[in-house]
Amino acid sequence: MDRMKRLVRRPVRSVSVIRSIYLLILIAALPVLVWNDLVHQLNANLTDVLLWFRGPVHSRTIGEIVLVAIDDTTAARYGPLPLRRAVLAQGISRLASFGPKVLALDILLAESGQPKDDDALVKALASLPTAVLCAARRSDPQASHTWILPLPAFAGSHLIGHVHVEPDSDGNVRSIPLEEVDGGKRFWALGLQAVRAARHDEAPVEKPDSLELGSIHIPARAFSMPAVRPEETLARRLILINYAGPEGAYRRIPFSSLLDNTGRPEDFRGKIVFLGVTAQGSGDRLFTPFSSGIGMSGVEIHANVARTLLDQDFLIPLSEPGEFAALILIGAACVLGIGTLRGIRLFGALGLLGAAIIVSCFVALRLGQIWPLGTLVAGFVACGSVTGLGEYASVATALRKSERKQREYAFRVQAIAHEIKTPLTAIQGSSEIISDRDVPDDQRAQIAGMIFKESKRLTQIIHTFLDVERMATGSLALEKKGLDLALLCEDVLERARLYGARKKIAISADVPHMAVQADGDLLSFAIYNLLTNAVKYSPKGTTVLLTATERASAVHISIADHGYGIAPGEQAKIFERFYRIKRGPSDNEEGTGIGLALVKEIVSQHGGRIEVDSHEGAGSRFTIVLPNQS
Ligand code: ADP
Repeated sequence: MDRMKRLVRRPVRSVSVIRSIYLLILIAALPVLVWNDLVHQLNANLTDVLLWFRGPVHSRTIGEIVLVAIDDTTAARYGPLPLRRAVLAQGISRLASFGPKVLALDILLAESGQPKDDDALVKALASLPTAVLCAARRSDPQASHTWILPLPAFAGSHLIGHVHVEPDSDGNVRSIPLEEVDGGKRFWALGLQAVRAARHDEAPVEKPDSLELGSIHIPARAFSMPAVRPEETLARRLILINYAGPEGAYRRIPFSSLLDNTGRPEDFRGKIVFLGVTAQGSGDRLFTPFSSGIGMSGVEIHANVARTLLDQDFLIPLSEPGEFAALILIGAACVLGIGTLRGIRLFGALGLLGAAIIVSCFVALRLGQIWPLGTLVAGFVACGSVTGLGEYASVATALRKSERKQREYAFRVQAIAHEIKTPLTAIQGSSEIISDRDVPDDQRAQIAGMIFKESKRLTQIIHTFLDVERMATGSLALEKKGLDLALLCEDVLERARLYGARKKIAISADVPHMAVQADGDLLSFAIYNLLTNAVKYSPKGTTVLLTATERASAVHISIADHGYGIAPGEQAKIFERFYRIKRGPSDNEEGTGIGLALVKEIVSQHGGRIEVDSHEGAGSRFTIVLPNQS
């Protein structure tokens, strides 16, 4: 029974085991699958989408920042660009008179102009409480100077900040190096310098994992990377820019309003002012996660850096161990799903897991953490598809199994109908005889006894069928025990002889006492079936012989008749379910073609085999060969 049970249950268990093994291999391969450039790019793009959904930030300090824009109007009225130095000096000195806290200038002052105009600009800058000038990295690596710096006359004692930004491979600016070193010179970012000047902070204190700008803790880890020139190493501290929103999130005042005296002092007083070019034709436009179409001016990007620092509204990427742990969790959830859920529930759970990944990334973003949605989605898709495909395969297997079971069930129903027909016919015939008044009493009693026996036999058949069915589903074991074959055959012969009487067929037997290991009911059923077949497929008045012999390793039980015989081409087919041989009118026996299929099933469940030796017109010999385990 155990063996059969195992046989029945093994496919289901093995599918789960194989799927779990696949999943574990997949988890091991996850690092390769999810840490590649494609997935990194996907991470960046999906984070952009989440940022869009998050929308503009609620900032405490956004009002402290003002952009003074050298825009298209300014260019049209006071241009061309770059603005003449005299015009720049005039606007800045006007701005200085309004008392801003800081002026951060995103305009390179690397070349000299008319001495008179340069003097005017130096004076204008000096009249500001604090100014931050900018330095840009030269893009040509062979250039003799690595930085484009303000002329010393302009620089004076003002702070200098770099305006270097490096878009990602898709052209979007998502982060900025707070610290940029090149050619032995190091500069902090313009936005950082502007905040530092506004808060009168000392230079940032450098720690391996952060920068401390006064009371502002900036979570920017230092890392080195190869510079463009191979002899150098670039030290960098990148931070993600937490954009306040799309372009236009900051108050923006045209530079022309300073020149034509329409600017209001209160718009500038005490503010951190970023001055830069925003005119569309200037070329200083870059794409950000919020950009649509024309991009964002460089000066607004620097303002966003300052806003991120002032609000301490940092976006911190999840660490690699954190990412790995999240992936393991996703894989584990899939394994758990496979182990505990089936079908629609499993797919529902996978859907929920996918939704949970997206929601948790969004919640994390609102809390200032950037979780790698692309990596997690890639991990989820990889694990989920293995789970889903595995489930599909097991559903398909289950479907095939249930179809097979349905066919077998139909077969059994027909088999039982067929098998109960024989005793029923006997009961019917006998009751007809018994109802005849001329039947002598002693014969009547004998026939009544036969009816009783046949009805008992009906019950027996039903039990046998139920047992065969239960055995096939693995819920019933063969009840094998040591039996005396002669005693078992005696009982079977008694019934078969009654059955043979209707065709005047005598059944003789030569079965010595020998022990066999078998399920008595099932073996009786098989022998009885072969005996009744021998009667059914033999002409009236012939004989049938039942013999049993014990050979070296097996017991041979043979049923031989002098019947119609079976053509060689049919001999293998008669054991198939529902197969019947179509003979002429001489064979008018009813049947369904199931009996021999059942006999074969019973014999093979005993570990034996059935053989047939038959010659057309001469007769047949069916032999049950059982392994001798006595
Ligand atoms: P059924 O008796 O219901 O037709 P079986 O599976 O018992 O079904 O037998 C299958 C076929 O094998 C029968 O139709 C019959 O033609 C043939 N057959 C079985 N036993 C014998 C036999 N002893 N002699 C000749 N033909 C036989």
